[in-house]
Amino acid sequence: MPRTPPRRRTAAAAPATRAERLAALRRHQARLRRCRRCPDMTGPPVVGAPVLSPVLLVGQAPGSREIELRRPFAWTAGKTLFRWFEGIGLDEAAFRARVYMAAVCRCFPGKAPKGGDRVPSETEIASCAPWLEAEIALLGPRLVIPAGRLAIARFLDHRALAEVVGRRHRLRLGGRPVDVIPLPHPSGASVWHRTEPGRSLLARALALIAAHPAWQAILRRPPPLG
Ligand code: SF4
Repeated sequence: MPRTPPRRRTAAAAPATRAERLAALRRHQARLRRCRRCPDMTGPPVVGAPVLSPVLLVGQAPGSREIELRRPFAWTAGKTLFRWFEGIGLDEAAFRARVYMAAVCRCFPGKAPKGGDRVPSETEIASCAPWLEAEIALLGPRLVIPAGRLAIARFLDHRALAEVVGRRHRLRLGGRPVDVIPLPHPSGASVWHRTEPGRSLLARALALIAAHPAWQAILRRPPPLG
């Protein structure tokens, strides 16, 4: 079974006006930056721009460079990710200003004994989940883009990336219909997106994102930045 998609609202009921929603999002991010729930994680939590976007990107967990630079996808994986999005109309600066960037965990898990970054534990993932749930409640996204297995597993049951990448999945999150279009993780250590069938499935996923009404909307008109 997939992990239960976020349903429970951890913030107060979403405020009505845009100004109120922006203020609530800024307060949420201020609380998130102060979070120190996980003793084995290295912070401070990495937070994207406070943008009221209908498009939500969900990464896995920041690396050490993201912690230093205090921005999601600030290093090599980000270069690949932003190249993908530039191909469908938004360069890095525009993406950061128009898409809300969240993650399964917001702190650096540290290195794994065999190399690479440690995969966050179930406890850490559960501890961090309310932050994402609150963002879904505040933003009411129409399109969610989880990048990488851990992020995809927050929303979709799957055994292999090829089962879910390259397709649009209709879910209900926070009581609203949401399209989830997963991407593979853009890590340079992964060959999945550079070899078949991953390369073709990635291209299909990006085409689905490009054609989505929420993506089209932020191409035409940037959402307000708090
Ligand atoms: S990973 Fe999430 S829950 Fe854990 S300390 Fe960082 S922000 Fe808090």
